[in-house]
Amino acid sequence: MYKVPKLADYSAKALDAAVRELLSALDQEALAVGSESDYKAFRDRWMARKNGILTQVNELWLKGAPKDAKKGVGQRVNELKSKVDESISATEARLSKGASASKLSADRIDITLPGIRRAIGAEHPVIKTMNEIVSVFRNLGYSVSEGPEVESDYYNFEALNFPPNHPARDTQDTLFIAGQDSKAQRDRLLLRTHTSPVQIRTMERLKPPLRIVIPGKVHRNDPPDASHSPMFHQIEGLAVDTNITFGDLKGTLDHAMKALFGSSVKTHFRPSFFPFTEPSAEMMVSCFICGGSGKRGSEPCRPCKTTGWIEILGCGMVDPNVFEFVKHNGYDPKKVSGFAFGMGADRVAILKYGVDDIQLFFQGDVRFSQQFG
Ligand SMILES: [Zn+2]
Repeated sequence: MYKVPKLADYSAKALDAAVRELLSALDQEALAVGSESDYKAFRDRWMARKNGILTQVNELWLKGAPKDAKKGVGQRVNELKSKVDESISATEARLSKGASASKLSADRIDITLPGIRRAIGAEHPVIKTMNEIVSVFRNLGYSVSEGPEVESDYYNFEALNFPPNHPARDTQDTLFIAGQDSKAQRDRLLLRTHTSPVQIRTMERLKPPLRIVIPGKVHRNDPPDASHSPMFHQIEGLAVDTNITFGDLKGTLDHAMKALFGSSVKTHFRPSFFPFTEPSAEMMVSCFICGGSGKRGSEPCRPCKTTGWIEILGCGMVDPNVFEFVKHNGYDPKKVSGFAFGMGADRVAILKYGVDDIQLFFQGDVRFSQQFG
């Protein structure tokens, strides 16, 4: 390894030879630098204030020079300093260029490789059914209203004319939220058992006339089987105005069923009971699977149980007692009347698509949903 020699001869010729020897050592050592730590050692060996090669040159060549040679030695030492600077900068640049080149090659992406295909899902048959029902009523001028799934006893029962201890409450196995015994009954929270509380919430918010459809999830304490699920979907509607009659109800629903199931279906109403409508009715549509004959070829038609009719929804004229709860917002039962109806969206989807088990709707298998696209 190069070592700075002491000079005895200060002639120009001898000085040039010493300088050549030093520069050739500098070039060789610079070339040998291959890593960050090599570079640091190289820089320190040449530049360190204490005992670096340039410092040694200063000490051994310049300080030891006879007076008349100092000028020539000084010039050469200055040239050497700038050469060493240059060499160190060039070496540093060479290293960092090499580092970024190797980083680039490590990070290189082959844009010709095939990508990762993301599977496209399918619209769920229940959502599809609800959207179809909503769109039938949208075309009749109805708007969509929504409300919370965790509801109070007041909106779910009391304001819909189910007084506390009313026997109709027993027909709905309600899932109550735990730990509310200290609250008044009307404030207790539950999972809504129907979408009807949204009728009250909307009438509190908007003055009549009103035409709304309400799609949403509802919950009942039913053990799951092929036709029951503790969570299912309803869609219901409400129309309130002056002089709304049962004839408006029948005409609207008859039109909606023809729009949903085909223009040849017939509708039929028979008396029923709901606490929030009076009079109330169940509506049936002629079976759109067997065309009302009750038979499919020689087989009995299961969806209509061979009767030729399918129960599809409950409906009725809004009970004046319900309007009493929202009378302050313009729903005076002496001035306005209205009708309401509601159906199970899952049940409609089951009939429409011939699904034989409601549980299939809730298993999240995209291959199931894709069949109905
Ligand atoms: Zn049938």
